[in-house]
Amino acid sequence: MSKLYDMTKHLPKKGIAKPMNRPQQMQIDLSKTTPQSCSTCQCPSFLPGVTLHIVSAIMSPNGMEMLVQAPVFICANCKKPFNHKEEKTND
Ligand SMILES: [Zn+2]
Repeated sequence: MSKLYDMTKHLPKKGIAKPMNRPQQMQIDLSKTTPQSCSTCQCPSFLPGVTLHIVSAIMSPNGMEMLVQAPVFICANCKKPFNHKEEKTND
């Protein structure tokens, strides 16, 4: 049991002091950003949603067909998915 004590003594103190390494939240000034609106109806509000995709067994990492989801924003007015690539052509 005394060996265990010796081992803990050699642990770096920084690692013990900060067990949780939280990512710092970025403070973004929204007035310096470019507001996005729906390309169809110009509505500035969007609702969070997901798109669902079936991954075939051949492409799946575990060899089984699986369902994956990807986040998408849906126009609050016309329900059209927001497509950021529509405005920027350098893909
Ligand atoms: Zn819309």
